[in-house]
Amino acid sequence: MRVGCPKEIKNHEYRVGLTPAAVREYVAHGHQVLIETGAGAGIDAADTAYEAAGAAIVGTAEEIFATSDMVVKVKEPQPGEWAQLRENQILYTYLHLAPDAEQTRGLAGSGVTAVAYETVTDLRGGLPLLAPMSEVAGRLSVQAGARALEKAHGGRGVLLGGVPGVGAGKVAIIGGGVVGKEAAKMAIGLGAIVTILDRSIPRLRELEDLFEGRVMTRFSTPTAIDECVFDADLVIGAVLIPGAAAPKLVTRAMLSSMKKGAVLVDVAIDQGGCFETSHATTHAEPTFEVDGIVHYCVANMPGAVPITSAYALNNATLPFGLSLADRGLDALVQDPHLLAGLNVHRGMITNRAVADALGREF
Ligand code: NAD
Repeated sequence: MRVGCPKEIKNHEYRVGLTPAAVREYVAHGHQVLIETGAGAGIDAADTAYEAAGAAIVGTAEEIFATSDMVVKVKEPQPGEWAQLRENQILYTYLHLAPDAEQTRGLAGSGVTAVAYETVTDLRGGLPLLAPMSEVAGRLSVQAGARALEKAHGGRGVLLGGVPGVGAGKVAIIGGGVVGKEAAKMAIGLGAIVTILDRSIPRLRELEDLFEGRVMTRFSTPTAIDECVFDADLVIGAVLIPGAAAPKLVTRAMLSSMKKGAVLVDVAIDQGGCFETSHATTHAEPTFEVDGIVHYCVANMPGAVPITSAYALNNATLPFGLSLADRGLDALVQDPHLLAGLNVHRGMITNRAVADALGREF
């Protein structure tokens, strides 16, 4: 199969669909790989590194879209890109179609077979191609929160780990899933005093076992959240109710009980945010203040660390991508987890959640 990878064109997107290491594996499987010149610049992978891995470098994205059997990307195609997709071609990338009728219409109109990273599943019911970005965001959330706590960045001027003779900072993590677990690791590593709140008691049990007493776990009720937020220097919002907007768990009224200059990091902002006062921000201007509380609400946190993110993403997408390249559409028939990623095929929406969300639009 001919596999093509164009340079990402979404604003401030520095990741790339195929790293040189991934290219080498596609080539070893007998595939021809085309990479747009400069596609790896954002992750410090030069054209020569791709050539060494066996790829051919092409001058334009148009060539890739026109000649590839499968196009591998990171972000959803932009309007100029979906216009170049066609029937009998596979698109393999993040799509997030449910809130995006225009893109869905564009993909359906193109006739392409679109497999979305975010709906591919695994044996345990998880989302293996979404998880690596949650891991990145979870780890980053503590880094971002610690920085925002510095006085010069508007925070209260607390060092999360404290020093001998001065107590450590307190971190409350609401939601103990992938993001929450990774945030907890980082916060513990810095020496902070950490509490994780979750609605799932089995999950709280797992976390308790994993962290062996180094975190406090609490069942997430409004009262528990009230108490933890009141006491915290840093609150990380990491809840997810699949398919739904995030619940507003920290209200504006709660902010007045918090320590002045405390920091809220709303990782769940891509699902609308779990703090009432959140609104999406960018890496260029990541924070804002409401009632003396610093808010960090960047919707694409992994974009801050494209090298780590692109490699983590490729590690997860490679096995499914190779399967698609090796077997074409048969790969979908043979693997129900990959089939769960099929969102659009020859003009039809083939994912239940997307169809439910957009049913009236079509
Ligand atoms: P996950 O499904 O692994 O974990 C979510 C956890 O929230 C679950 O353990 C669930 O039991 C818990 N939860 C649900 N309702 C709760 C409540 N009322 N109180 C406390 N806990 C509750 O999800 P994840 O992969 O950790 O993702 C968390 C959020 O982070 C999602 O919204 C995801 O989209 C977002 N995310 C954002 C970025 C970004 O750049 N901003 C990057 C990656 C992920």
